[in-house]
Amino acid sequence: MDKRLRNSGIDIIGDIPWGTHIGQLYSSKEDFFQTGVTYIQSGLINNELCIWIYSDNTTYEEIKDKLSEYMDDIDFYLQLGQLKIMHYSQWYVKDNCFNEVKVNDQWNYFIKHVVQNGYDGLRAIADTAWLEKNHYRSFLDYERNIDNIISESPFIAFCLYDSKKVDAFAIGEIINNHSYVITKHEDKLDIIRNVEVLIRDRQIERGEERYRKLIEILPDPVFIHDEKTIFYCNKSAVQMTGVKNSYKLLGRSMIMLVPPEMKMNLRRFIDDMLKGDKESNFLISKLKCRNGEVKDVEIVSTKYVFQGRNVVLSVIRDITHLMEIDELKKVIAKNKELLEYSIELDRIKTEFISNISHELKTPLNVILAAIQMMNMSENKLNSDKNKNKYLKMMQQNCYRLLRLVNNIIDITKIDADYYEIKLQNYDVVKMIREITKSVSEYAVCKSIDIDFESDLDERIIACDPDAIERVILNLLSNAIKFTPVGGKVKVKVYENNQKVIISVKDNGIGIPLHKQKSIFDRFQQVDKSLTRQSEGSGIGLSIVKALVEKHNGEVSINSQIGQGSEFTIELPCKVLLNDENELEYAAKLRSEEHVDKISIEFSDIYS
Ligand code: ADP
Repeated sequence: MDKRLRNSGIDIIGDIPWGTHIGQLYSSKEDFFQTGVTYIQSGLINNELCIWIYSDNTTYEEIKDKLSEYMDDIDFYLQLGQLKIMHYSQWYVKDNCFNEVKVNDQWNYFIKHVVQNGYDGLRAIADTAWLEKNHYRSFLDYERNIDNIISESPFIAFCLYDSKKVDAFAIGEIINNHSYVITKHEDKLDIIRNVEVLIRDRQIERGEERYRKLIEILPDPVFIHDEKTIFYCNKSAVQMTGVKNSYKLLGRSMIMLVPPEMKMNLRRFIDDMLKGDKESNFLISKLKCRNGEVKDVEIVSTKYVFQGRNVVLSVIRDITHLMEIDELKKVIAKNKELLEYSIELDRIKTEFISNISHELKTPLNVILAAIQMMNMSENKLNSDKNKNKYLKMMQQNCYRLLRLVNNIIDITKIDADYYEIKLQNYDVVKMIREITKSVSEYAVCKSIDIDFESDLDERIIACDPDAIERVILNLLSNAIKFTPVGGKVKVKVYENNQKVIISVKDNGIGIPLHKQKSIFDRFQQVDKSLTRQSEGSGIGLSIVKALVEKHNGEVSINSQIGQGSEFTIELPCKVLLNDENELEYAAKLRSEEHVDKISIEFSDIYS
């Protein structure tokens, strides 16, 4: 049964729950019109089915007129069937006798009708003026029994008794059978309460008082509110928000308690609580507290009915310490990650040192062996041919050592942020073409077909020619190194989206997918075994990446194992405004310094 309170329409009674049975001892018709009219009016407004059963002391018209004095649309309610004005003979009497079975059947019929027709409940007023003394006994017994029907249904009943027709004994019974009995004394309405109802009400009041006290002493702030208004808050709420007393909060909105960035969330949350299906829910939010402090809070809310309206009861929990623990957990996780990273770095460095030792030892051993052979040849085979061969071996291996040492020096400089590039305007197309041409000797000796292609005649951009040369030589030496004899290497330069794109593509051994992500990390080699076919330290590509990024560019890889690899560099098309004309790169390429650079970068390929 719906426990919500209904407005009785009678001032001295106020709101009543379903199942209330009211009586009135009247002295004149005016007495019961005074209460009955507002009682029915309130029922009609509250979407209840209203029935007025009248007796011989009044008429249908008189009731209708009295109701019309208070409401304009009585005819409308009558036509709709929400209001029924009926004579007692249609209800109580059969064969000229009071008939309890007939009466109860009628009530049950109307209670069913109420539900089927979408009314909230049933409200009845019945005048008993017709009762003769011989009917009174059975009527009072009936009144006691009807309480069972009323208290189990959405039903409010109001019985009118002519005070002149009832004796003291009947008055006692009437008081017993009703929750309230209205009387009139010196023109003022008064109520006599049924003792049982009185005791029950007191118990409810005391219970409510106890709950109120319990909520009051709860350490967590508690609010009763709807979307606009706070109706109640406990002491903790006053303390936490830092206001002087609860009156500073009552009547205001919950939304004003949270900082601006949280307002929208809270508004939506309260709206969902009031209109949605969920009986309870929670929200992690923030609360503006004493001295301007903002605390992390959890708002746990439950929907319920308070003084006849849907409201939300919200308990606020300070979760600042939980959030702090959360923050700490995040810091610990981050530190753990850093620790794991530094352990991994340490492992890679150790691995690198053992690799480097091998890389250093190999050329040194070759140089030593060549010197020993030369010493021997001085004595025995003293031929120019042999001398040249050993000198070339020594030179080649010195280049390998130089390459390694250069790479180590450069990566250390880059790491320490000491490596600076010097930007100048250069024709990048010409530069890449010349570099490709200058390494063809190395490709030829491996029978690799090296090819340059560009749809641009020239493209001047601001770049550091030494850095770009380093990058391209590294990519080309890798392409030749990791492409078997008879393979192909293609270099392409084109423009796309305000960027110069340089692609170095080979059809060599390719790089497995899982290695492609880390290929630009320092000390990474696909094959780390000491018996691997190609030499190298795994530093080259990390220098390539760092130098390209210093130009605000990007480098990427596209490779398939067994099919080949393509390294793509994107450089922004920017020029220096006050730079003089493009410097001549070709002269630089012819210099001995440049020849040395190629020999150094390609030193692995001859070995
Ligand atoms: P390294 O000095 O060892 O060549 P890099 O950083 O230049 O160092 O290259 C790292 C690794 O990436 C190489 O050892 C090789 O395994 C792989 N790699 C680089 N370029 C290619 C390529 N074109 N084809 C296949 N593998 C390549």
